[in-house]
Amino acid sequence: MSIDNYHPADQIVSVMQRIYSKGMTTISGGNISILNSNGDIWITPAGIDKSSLKRADIICVKADETIEGIHKPSSELPFHRMVYKVRPDFNAVIHAHPPALVSFSIVGKIPDTRLIPGADSICGKVALAGYALPGSKKLAEKVESAFKKNVRAVILENHGVLVAGKNLSEAFKALETLDYCAHLQIKAAYLEKAVTLSNTRVAFKEDDKERNKEEKQAPEKLSTAHINSEKTARQEMVRLIRRTYEMGFITSIQGDFSQRLKDNGFLITPRWVDRKNIQENDLVFILNGKKEPRRHPCASVKLHQYIYEKHPEINSVIIAQPLNIMAFAVTGTDFDSRIIPESYIMLRDIPRLPYGSYQDNAEIIARSVSTQKPVVMVENKCIIATGNSLINAFDRLEVLEYCAKSIIMSRNIGCFSPVPDKEIAEIIKAFNL
Ligand SMILES: [Zn+2]
Repeated sequence: MSIDNYHPADQIVSVMQRIYSKGMTTISGGNISILNSNGDIWITPAGIDKSSLKRADIICVKADETIEGIHKPSSELPFHRMVYKVRPDFNAVIHAHPPALVSFSIVGKIPDTRLIPGADSICGKVALAGYALPGSKKLAEKVESAFKKNVRAVILENHGVLVAGKNLSEAFKALETLDYCAHLQIKAAYLEKAVTLSNTRVAFKEDDKERNKEEKQAPEKLSTAHINSEKTARQEMVRLIRRTYEMGFITSIQGDFSQRLKDNGFLITPRWVDRKNIQENDLVFILNGKKEPRRHPCASVKLHQYIYEKHPEINSVIIAQPLNIMAFAVTGTDFDSRIIPESYIMLRDIPRLPYGSYQDNAEIIARSVSTQKPVVMVENKCIIATGNSLINAFDRLEVLEYCAKSIIMSRNIGCFSPVPDKEIAEIIKAFNL
């Protein structure tokens, strides 16, 4: 369900709650505004707890400067106004102090949005603006000169971040993705230098020709038993996708989940649907390479299909980008799954494939997955976790992310010693791996 059709005050309440629950702002920090087509600006109030805003707390600053509402508007109204003045293409602005982005703001740097494909097109160009007093004319002027450079986001020195969009959903996606990139770069710095993708490799490929061809195809007639099992699978998938989002393993636009159905075909996540609010009807049913009409499966649909075709024992596939394990994927650091016996049993050895393999040949990746190698890492791109059920694939993803987190956290307290070969041989024998 998209928030774009909500009343502006409801959109602001919804996004502010989401930013607060993700730890991207404090109860006193941050502000959000929406510019209406009639010139009114809806904005968060000054000095009110941001974790529990209600519709009535949001202020409307009319085009003629009169103010409607029960509070004072945010003291940062001047720089919101300035963004709308210099950039008529933007109708929503978010300002916040997310800790990872504040880290960049206090060292005067901009996060690298080219460590994974797609992020730079969502975040747009990002600039750095020098320090000025909050709420001052000088800060608004610095914001003005930054936004004149055709940017979508500005890191405010010793302060926070300012992100704009044509609507509030777009601004939120840019903020969330920029924050993800900042966290990823910080995690990677514990390991080795992260590898930035070149201009040509970073582009997000969309195969529209293929999409249009598939659009004309409809699935075959299905039995009642199939329809019942499909309904249960849709409920399970939605529950797990939302939970994965709440756990911080995926962002609103990441995470491709699929599940094979008992008699035939599989269900897969759509493209461009917010993972936090995904609904059962958003999932796309694929049968013999054909998809439901008027639905758009995520871009990795072919890879899921090849995996199911080649491996009858695999019933679920999750492709995701959890931060800690992605820190290994964007650096040259090898990930060793021999952390604890349970991690080796769950994950086994994890093949590391080059970035290009994902875009060039999904069949190569499908072949690299097996019962012996249920998880694969693709450099600068993603983790592919498979399992005999959805929960089994998720379990592997969770174990992997927590193990990666343990290795990163151990970096400054000692040297990581994996379980030795002799003990691994013992585990293989004992657990019949
Ligand atoms: Zn601030």
